[in-house]
This record gives sequence, structure tokens and C-alpha cells, in this order.
Amino acid sequence: MDSKIFHKLSYGVYVIGAGKDGKFNGQIANTVFQISSDPAVVAISINKNNLTHQFIREGKAFSVSVLPKNVPLSFIGHFGFKSGREIDKYQSISYKAGVSGVPVLLENSLGYLEAEVINSVDVETHTVFFGRVIDAQVLNSDEEPLTYAYYHQMKKGTTPPAAPTYVEKEQTQNPKPEKEKTKYQCNICGYVYDPETGDPDSGIAPGTDFKDIPADWECPVCGANKENFVAL
Ligand code: FE
Repeated sequence: MDSKIFHKLSYGVYVIGAGKDGKFNGQIANTVFQISSDPAVVAISINKNNLTHQFIREGKAFSVSVLPKNVPLSFIGHFGFKSGREIDKYQSISYKAGVSGVPVLLENSLGYLEAEVINSVDVETHTVFFGRVIDAQVLNSDEEPLTYAYYHQMKKGTTPPAAPTYVEKEQTQNPKPEKEKTKYQCNICGYVYDPETGDPDSGIAPGTDFKDIPADWECPVCGANKENFVAL
């Protein structure tokens, strides 16, 4: 089986929001699709270990916010690589509570829909939730939606192990040509530091060797420190 075919499937990138007893949580998901239009029903696939799963299960509702192509990697990292069990992900984020009480993004969002869970299917590590759409808004019609392929290829983003589409091999299969400066990978989130491109958002110029990066530099995706990086 050649698992690279999974990289040929097309997806968007979304923040799924859920709430319970006045607490909010959200996570990144690429597995969102529309099942029917009248009534409008969507399906999402969520890892059972995630706090968002628990909140959707108990609150019986979720929101889907559509991320724009120009979303900062750190914003995806905030929702994709941190746990709501440790931080309040919405504390520093512009959002509002939707009609069913789940959070919807008001920044880095092309718009959202909100759905009430009408059914779910247990699929081993994940649950597929089906939700009837009860509200939807477009917040920005000028920008393009982010695709999963763009997230991977152009932003060198990575897939957290909890995502349904995670392919374990991708973390280890990068043979290094001679002479090329060594790339380093974050062993928390899988982000790859490439000396050729540097990390200009954090003031690291293209061409900077990993060893020359200041010690207080942090992984732009998950915030891990330098010691969590290993040479590829
Ligand atoms: Fe990281």
C-alpha cells in the first residue's frame, strides 16, 4: 500500500468550535464536508481523545469556521497543537458565541456555520458527527479559503498525530542530500525548520543555520523550545 496517495486527497482547513457549561474549546480539522443541502447537513470527523470531541458529544452542537489562505501558521498552531485541557484557546482570540452557544471565530475566518448534532458514527479512533446547520454567515468574501495541500506544501505545515489523515511515515522519510544545510524537526508538532527559508516571521533570516538561531527562539507552530528539535 502506498500511503502517499492520501496526500492527493483534497481538503480545506477549519477550526471546529464546541462548548459545554460556558467553557469553549476549538481545534483544527480538515475533515468537514456537506452531506445534503435541504436540510443542510454537514459531517465532521473528530479524534476521540480531543477535548473538542467531549464537548461536541455533551453539548450536541459544533461550529465550523473556514480559515483563509493567508492565515498565520501560528494561528493554526494555536488551535491545532495545543490542548484545551491546558489553555483556554479562546482567551486571546476574537470570537462570539453562536446561536447554540458554541464559539465562532471573528478573526482569520471567511465565515462559519453552526450545526446541531443529529447523528454520529463510531469509527475506531474517531467519531463522525453529523450536524444539521442552524446558522451560517460569510464574514469575508474577498479572500480564498485555505486548502490542506497549500497548508502542507507552501507553508510547510505538518499534520498532528491526532488528525484522521496523519501518515506516520512522513515524519521520517526525508533523505538528506550532501552539502545541503541540515533541516531540523520539532518533535512535538512535526514542524520542519529549513535553513534555506529561515523563519522570517520570528526574525530568523533565510540562510540561518539551526545552530545560529538564538536560544530563546520557539517553534512557530507549537511554541516548543530549541531543545525539542532534532536533525533530519
Ligand atoms: Fe513545534
